[in-house]
Amino acid sequence: MNAGANNKEQGMTAKLEPRKSLSAQLVAELREQIANGTFAPGDKLPSENELMQTYEVSRTVVREAISGLRADGILITRQGVGAFVTNQTGKRLEPFDPLDLKAVLHMIEFRKAIEMEAAEFAAARRDDNDLKELKSRFDELTANALDAKEFVLPDYNFHLAIARASHNPYFLQIEEHIGAQIIPHSKLHVLAPDIPEDLSFLKAVQVEHEHIYRAIVDGDVSGARAAMRTHLEHSQERYGRYVSAV
Ligand SMILES: [Zn+2]
Repeated sequence: MNAGANNKEQGMTAKLEPRKSLSAQLVAELREQIANGTFAPGDKLPSENELMQTYEVSRTVVREAISGLRADGILITRQGVGAFVTNQTGKRLEPFDPLDLKAVLHMIEFRKAIEMEAAEFAAARRDDNDLKELKSRFDELTANALDAKEFVLPDYNFHLAIARASHNPYFLQIEEHIGAQIIPHSKLHVLAPDIPEDLSFLKAVQVEHEHIYRAIVDGDVSGARAAMRTHLEHSQERYGRYVSAV
């Protein structure tokens, strides 16, 4: 406790840094060996003890590195057996830059491809829990609909609830991976700070959301798909205008 308090008083947690960077170095080293094929998909990684000896690091460092690689989906660990290389090495989504308007348009196009399908599945498969979740997400969205900054997160959560209601976990995982920045409006005030808050735009978006919501609640499969298409196509049009304006 005293040591922690002292560190705090000095305004630094310098003590932690060397260990952190050692595990980061080990992560980088193992990533490199996986990328260059030293360890191929399905291969077992050397044991904790072997890694400790090879790299002259502590067990904690090895465990941190392994758990980092596991969190990234590059390794899976089997209790008492060891860590294995998955087949997902090096094939991760690029981080998405929401300030790049062309990237925003590509993202909306991609979302159309997956979210129209997700909305259709949601209308077909939603259960009582999904309906409850969708209602609370839609209510939250409605409460914030006319506030350009506040509605971004509820908008994202509403789309996540639809992905969840599709009952195919990959829709949800993809949307979670991309993050709230899939909502293009999240950076609009950064891209175009001089544009006044446009209530008619916000009202239109809310009507689009309501159409999606109603169709899913009604179990209207083609209606849900069409409403999601309309929502994202309008989004494309709105952003297409910004691209040509800046
Ligand atoms: Zn939306």
